Amino acid sequence: ERTQVINFNSGPCALPTSVLEEAAKGLINYKGTGIGLAELSHRSGYFGAIVNDLAALIRTQLDVPPTHEVLFTQGGATGQFSAVVLNLLARHRLLYPELTDEERVMDYVVTGNWSKKASEEATRLGGGVVNIVTDARTVSEDHKTFASIPPHGSFQFSKKPAFVYYCENETIDGVQFSTDPKSSASFPWEAIKEEDFVPVVGDYSSSFLSRPIPDIARHALIYAGAQKNLGPAGLTVLIVRKDCLVDTDAAAKLGAQPVPITMDWKVIHANNSLYNTPPMFAMYVSQLVLEHAQSLGGMPAITLMNERKKDILYEVLDEGAAKGLFRLRVHKDSRSWMNQTFHVLGEGKEELFLEQADKAGFKALAGHRSVGGVRVSLYNAISEEQTAVLVNFIREFIKQNA
Ligand code: PMP
Repeated sequence: ERTQVINFNSGPCALPTSVLEEAAKGLINYKGTGIGLAELSHRSGYFGAIVNDLAALIRTQLDVPPTHEVLFTQGGATGQFSAVVLNLLARHRLLYPELTDEERVMDYVVTGNWSKKASEEATRLGGGVVNIVTDARTVSEDHKTFASIPPHGSFQFSKKPAFVYYCENETIDGVQFSTDPKSSASFPWEAIKEEDFVPVVGDYSSSFLSRPIPDIARHALIYAGAQKNLGPAGLTVLIVRKDCLVDTDAAAKLGAQPVPITMDWKVIHANNSLYNTPPMFAMYVSQLVLEHAQSLGGMPAITLMNERKKDILYEVLDEGAAKGLFRLRVHKDSRSWMNQTFHVLGEGKEELFLEQADKAGFKALAGHRSVGGVRVSLYNAISEEQTAVLVNFIREFIKQNA
């Protein structure tokens, strides 16, 4: 039974049950047409309305400024690891045709495994060189773990880079930038000169729609795979600043790499995200998820709920740490709201924790295969009540094992 388990998967993850029930109906018979959503034409008025409505809902909930377009594509967040490089190197080529590839620098802020992976794709594609602005592993105790946002003074930005790239929430490590500009874990905007209008790219895959995004206006691109807070996998959302929709064919004539047509942001925009057949079902479910979010009170209500959830969870984890039973992976100021990562100390204790949790109906709590440990994911569809049930279980485990 769905009600007997709580799914803490890191993504794909839990979606609201009422939304899935509604989506199941639409999959069979969309709005009384006698045709299911996945069977309709993507050129139909019915589907056009979904595309426009989905973009409008994202625009409203995140307060996207008129300088930016909301676009949809496929290929996951990983697809954008490549698309970012190709589109923004093309833009840089149009602005500075005289530079050599060695002079085209791509700045990567590496605070976890996903930004590291993105930087590796940039190196692989070439056409410019990668500058690692910071590697957060160098400031951790073991020099191997991503455990905090490094101090701002250590960030080494280059001059007029093609773009600056960061990952707002590192899903595997549990490291997240703070939205408080005064926090030492905030994004170091002060180091990026306004007058250079450097394109800043943020991977928001695992924090999208969990809380407001500050400073959207300063970003060239904010993007996210849908499969955390938005909907099923297959859909990727782009929020692009208009000057970054560039003529990549013109750039190619100047020596830039040609951009595969489905990755070209300008083409996606010119076709209202319908250049080719989009992931229709994923978009439909996403629309329902956002309507559901709106009915709960939109971003302010969701933000408050997510804040309370992570607070009660970190509180009990800190209790376990104080008793020597847990070790939290991430420093306090850089802790993720969405993904809480920790280790259970003592011979066999972690296995015991995971085993007892699973038996009690708490599913998918094992950490990412590359880092181990325990990872809880508190995406939007996990309620405060469900979080409290997990917190009680953990408190009991501490009592019996510390
Ligand atoms: N970036 C982040 C922050 C992620 O969490 C993930 C996947 N969980 C990815 C990128 C890769 O996403 P995808 O599988 O959609 O390519």
